[in-house]
Amino acid sequence: MLDRIKILSSKLIIRQHFLRRSFGTKSTRRFNNVKDEEYNKVRRKTENKEAQIYLLKSRGQHLLMNPRVLNSIVQKSNILPTDTVLEIGPGTGNLTLKLLEVAQKVIAIEIDKRMVEILHKRVSERGLQDRLTVICQDALKTEFPQFDLMVANIPYGISSPLVAKLVYGKNSYRSGTLLLQKEFARRLLANPGDSEFNRLAVNVKLVADVEFVMNVSKKDFLPCPKVDSSVVKIYPKTEIPKVDYEEWCAFTRTCFTKKNKTLGAIFKQKRMLMELMKLQETKGDEEKNTLYSDYHVNDTEDEDGLSNEDIVNFSSDVGKDLTLFREIINDILRSGGFEDKRSSKLSHKELLDLLSLFNRARICFHGQVNPKDESDAELASSFGPL
Ligand code: SAH
Repeated sequence: MLDRIKILSSKLIIRQHFLRRSFGTKSTRRFNNVKDEEYNKVRRKTENKEAQIYLLKSRGQHLLMNPRVLNSIVQKSNILPTDTVLEIGPGTGNLTLKLLEVAQKVIAIEIDKRMVEILHKRVSERGLQDRLTVICQDALKTEFPQFDLMVANIPYGISSPLVAKLVYGKNSYRSGTLLLQKEFARRLLANPGDSEFNRLAVNVKLVADVEFVMNVSKKDFLPCPKVDSSVVKIYPKTEIPKVDYEEWCAFTRTCFTKKNKTLGAIFKQKRMLMELMKLQETKGDEEKNTLYSDYHVNDTEDEDGLSNEDIVNFSSDVGKDLTLFREIINDILRSGGFEDKRSSKLSHKELLDLLSLFNRARICFHGQVNPKDESDAELASSFGPL
């Protein structure tokens, strides 16, 4: 009961806050000074329609109100008249209407039915309904249709899995222009050695390039969120390393658990080692113990010029002994000179080399093999929370 009262009162606060803003408080006066007819149009609509609905914080419902920012996002997205644009979380359609002015088609995925109703109404009033498809579902649980570009002011709570779904998804795309929480955008933009560089950046940048577009003030939203925002543009990389993505994501999850510790220290943690060892045993069982037992010393060189003597080898019996397992891991780290290095300072090439050393010693990081059609969701979930 108490919880219900709390929820209701928080909705009420948002509503009061909203109404105060709609009828011209200090912060809306800021907009009144903007000589922009387009903005006034958006504002009138907002007063007429959106005032009738509660904006839910839990759904990240912060509407982007500043037409200059909306126009810049559209302009920076380089939309061609033949493009299909995928928009996640269109809300009441402030960005959708702008997208429809330039794209051939917009497909919008919105979780909130009330928003969808308003969106349909606004788009129909302009006679643009034939070029808009709305999917009323959770964007994380929906298979994305074919699209050329993603352009969206997304709910910030789903940033990690959504970006993962974009960059690791089955769809090919030209770019994604996304409005994100500023801190999140900074992490996406970070490079090895930067203090913000983490698992998110390393995973995304394996397959995509990220470019800063512009900062957006919290005052440009309704209601005003606590955080500032930035727009980034994400492009798929032209050359993507050949690596099993699920294995890669599981590997980086281990390496970045304590990103400022050395890899030597990370791979000394007992619980992690136990889990990793158990995983090898399970995999060994699944594959009828072929994983460890067929791994023998062989002093021929492989295609990288690395002698197999440099790589640790072991038998299935050894896998059951934690101390020995730890030694094997240490040998792998030492053989590549990784023991004293920190993941957050390593390049993709170095991390890929380390993963390949592990894999060649038959040590894997990813557990089950997922059915193909669920792999997007699995990858997306492996990204959060970051
Ligand atoms: N793009 C709009 C609204 C942004 S608010 C604008 O710029 O004004 C974020 C929107 O995402 C809300 O409409 C919210 O209902 C929607 N949303 C939240 N979670 C979602 C999810 N999982 N899938 C799809 N839409 C979602």
